Amino acid sequence: GLHVSSHKTKTTNNTAMTNTYDLIVIGGGSGGIACAKRSASYSKSVLCIERARLGGTCVNVGCVPKKVMWSAASIADMVKHDMKHYGFEGGDGVKLDFGLLKKRRDGYVKRLNGIYENGFKSAGVEHVFGDGTFVDKNTVEVTGADGVKTRFTGEKIVIATGGRPHFPPGDGVEEHCISSDGFFDLEELPKVAVVVGAGYIAVELAGVLNSLGTETHLVVRKGKALREFDPMISDGLDAEMLKAGITIHRHTNGVAKVVPDQTGKKNVTLHSGDVVYGADVVLMAAGRVPNTEDLCADCEWAPNTEDLHLECCGVKVTNRKYIIADEFQNTNVENIYALGDVCGKVELTPMAIAAGRRLADRLFGKEEHKASKVSYELVPTVVFSHPTIGTCGMSEPQAVAKYGEQNVKVYTSKFANLFYGIFDMEPDQKPKTLMKVICAGLDEKVVGIHVLGMGADEMMQGFGVAMKMGCTKADLDSCVAIHPTAAEELVTMG
Ligand code: FAD
Ligand code: NDP
Repeated sequence: GLHVSSHKTKTTNNTAMTNTYDLIVIGGGSGGIACAKRSASYSKSVLCIERARLGGTCVNVGCVPKKVMWSAASIADMVKHDMKHYGFEGGDGVKLDFGLLKKRRDGYVKRLNGIYENGFKSAGVEHVFGDGTFVDKNTVEVTGADGVKTRFTGEKIVIATGGRPHFPPGDGVEEHCISSDGFFDLEELPKVAVVVGAGYIAVELAGVLNSLGTETHLVVRKGKALREFDPMISDGLDAEMLKAGITIHRHTNGVAKVVPDQTGKKNVTLHSGDVVYGADVVLMAAGRVPNTEDLCADCEWAPNTEDLHLECCGVKVTNRKYIIADEFQNTNVENIYALGDVCGKVELTPMAIAAGRRLADRLFGKEEHKASKVSYELVPTVVFSHPTIGTCGMSEPQAVAKYGEQNVKVYTSKFANLFYGIFDMEPDQKPKTLMKVICAGLDEKVVGIHVLGMGADEMMQGFGVAMKMGCTKADLDSCVAIHPTAAEELVTMG
């Protein structure tokens, strides 16, 4: 039935007043949890409604299990490709117990679910499991797993319902493909996988599968993956993926149909006419859609869920169904706010968390927080590809478009990490690290930093801080290098 955690009955003038809150948050993911906890820290009564598992996409089917798989893949790379160059033997015979890896990963995620539940308890946030839908601008109806409906009213309501994978049209696509959600349900490593898409998820999961030993095909609609990234980065990753053994199918215009044969292997026909035969798994990673409308009947993670019924509260959405929110996370309805992936702007966990906390500060915090908002500028981000990409700020084409070619100065560097120094391999075969620092104006203000290569993931956070502080090329150069690292190259570019 419907279980409201640590429910305290509020009393006003000795009249019992249950189910009424200062704030209701719909969605217990990255942004919703952060906003609920911060709001409760200001002694507000807060209810968080979650229809699946606490932690949302990031914890259950996103960043966390993805990073576990990326780490497993990195170990596989070390064992299969790298350790022999350092004199270690036996790497070729090493086997992966995929079932054990999954069990451990699932166990870790489950522990995190519990940690979030306890976090709510200690913060004084109440939560309820069920599907939230609007009744009016202050009322949300929650349908529990058993179908029982309960109404809650909130003076203010935050929509933080996130998004879900989207299957593009194509014969047999919905029936025979899995999404990133389904990837985390795989009980065994596929022998052959076709990954369709060109964004973060496609390159990350293709990289994981390939490193773990799956014959991996990446299908992109256009010429290459990560087209919006700096061209040095997308071209560089493309070269590294090919070297690592991923087959890239280009200019395909996407998938026309997916047909299984008698053995269950899938044949994937592309709009270009090419066919990829014999896939155990076809993973569709062609983008996500917001959880605002549309039933999600066949999603394994949150089946048969209902739509938010935004028409009952009047909140406006874009033509792609993202909620329209301003820089303060205000929707068009005065007491309703929205943040995170459901708004479709910088879909990253720390972005949703920061937006949630700033909003709580603004709504309930001290006077000095009344104008609090999050900045969507210069957000550093990492793609956990093999090797990783770290990037912050503008790509070179973006910088040129904004400042004009004559006002942009670009510094680049290409080298093999010292890790590969002793490898018994032709120099051009060694994985490359690529770096680019993009500067604008006479003072050479740094407007973009892009790195592809080993360690790029752990490199960007500090450079992100420097960029937030408005650093110039001279500031980078004024910092003495840390040697021998790859990162030192960013402060020694001539
Ligand atoms: P979510 O975390 O999606 O939370 C929304 C919650 O709302 C969900 O739990 C959902 O069940 C619930 N909900 C929806 N509708 C209702 C309803 N009507 N009633 C009740 N509950 C409802 N970001 C990074 O920063 N780093 C990464 O490495 C990274 N890797 C990723 C890998 C993958 C495979 C994916 C898919 C995403 C990844 N992301 C990553 C993105 C990140 O997961 C999201 O940006 C982040 O989770 C967004 O947080 P949110 O709070 O907006 O939404
Ligand atoms: P993205 O929006 O990053 O990429 C989807 C890409 O798929 C599109 O850019 C498009 O590229 C391609 N595509 C679109 N439609 C089709 C189609 N019909 N057939 C084939 N390809 C198609 O979405 P993702 O789902 O990868 O990720 C969503 C967001 O989640 C990311 O943008 C990111 O913000 C976040 N995320 C962050 C991660 C991290 O921080 N490490 C990891 C994973 C996700 P094109 O136009 O070139 O064809």
